[in-house]
Amino acid sequence: MLVYKAVRQRFAQNQELCTMMETFRQMVNECIRIGLDNKISTLKKFSSNHYHDLKKYDIQSRYKLTAISQACGRLAQMKRSIREGRTPKSPYVQKPYLVSCYGFKINGMLLSIPVGDRRYVHIILNHHTQAILSDKSLKVKSFVITPDSISLGIQKEIDETKCDNVVGIDRNLRNVTVGNSDKVTMYNMEDLPKITYRTKKVTSSFKRNDHRIRQKVYSKLGNRMARRVRQFLNRISKDIVSKARESRSMIVLEDIKGIRKLYRKGNYQGRKYRGMMNSWPFYELQRQIQYKSAWEGIPVRFVSPVRTSILCPICGSRTQEDMFQHRQLWCSSCKRTIDRDVVAAMNISYKGLQRFCNPSGLSDEAMKGNLGTPVILRADGSKLGLKARSR
Ligand SMILES: [Zn+2]
Repeated sequence: MLVYKAVRQRFAQNQELCTMMETFRQMVNECIRIGLDNKISTLKKFSSNHYHDLKKYDIQSRYKLTAISQACGRLAQMKRSIREGRTPKSPYVQKPYLVSCYGFKINGMLLSIPVGDRRYVHIILNHHTQAILSDKSLKVKSFVITPDSISLGIQKEIDETKCDNVVGIDRNLRNVTVGNSDKVTMYNMEDLPKITYRTKKVTSSFKRNDHRIRQKVYSKLGNRMARRVRQFLNRISKDIVSKARESRSMIVLEDIKGIRKLYRKGNYQGRKYRGMMNSWPFYELQRQIQYKSAWEGIPVRFVSPVRTSILCPICGSRTQEDMFQHRQLWCSSCKRTIDRDVVAAMNISYKGLQRFCNPSGLSDEAMKGNLGTPVILRADGSKLGLKARSR
């Protein structure tokens, strides 16, 4: 199985590269214009009919090929959004950048990018990038340069791990619960809604009626919020994947694509509630878990979310919501209350076990085979990284 990842680092600007990036942006936009006019979005048709239209750009021909492929990708993305009934974003590129998978070299700490006439621009790779690239099984396939950063696309061959266990992951607004019938870990994420709430409060306090400054301030604050959320989830996903690797477990998630439809205008919910639920970063966590576990060779599977937080994971009968305790479920046949999120994580792991490890077994058998409640551990999501550093 081939897996991909990117390493990103900052680098000092170079006048020649800046000019190339701007030319590349113009080329991509020109290709998009041609594609829209002639209704072409496939690479083959485009390069055979319109490659010569890029003659006027003074850049090496290898970059013309990647510009065409970038434009085709953007046009295909636009077509997909139209087909799926979404409002398409403008396919045109705003910021200068440069992508290529041809002709670059990496020699120790130097990355050499061809600029024409057998000349190269050299970029020094930092210690972090060098440490990652020192792994000989990796191949560097491409690079992307933007005015302040460079990303290298790396690839490696890995075999999927043969798994002995299954862990289910239940994603909620205020916690992420990971586990199976033996052990359940709850990651506290109370801080995440606070980050988005505070950012909204600051942006709403901006009173000056000038859209240029407003746009600048909003984008700065929005980017900061996105970085903080990514960083927060990064600690959790890293911990989940490393524990799954240690216990040789398959990761099972609920397929909750389209959950935002539940929180649209006209669903009899308040504005604040809808705002909170729509800023819930469930997909970002899934994306991080998926790429990290792919890199380690851990399989990630999806199950349907139907009835995961209703059925009792111990006896399989229907539970009732506990009237006196928040987010607790009461099972009348086991005569006990269980945490709703623990129930969901256990049920997801059973569903995964039944579906992907033991296709012939029935769900009831899987449930009856696992009597008893698991050990419940609690971890604070915001402090995970700090603990690891202090050790
Ligand atoms: Zn029960």
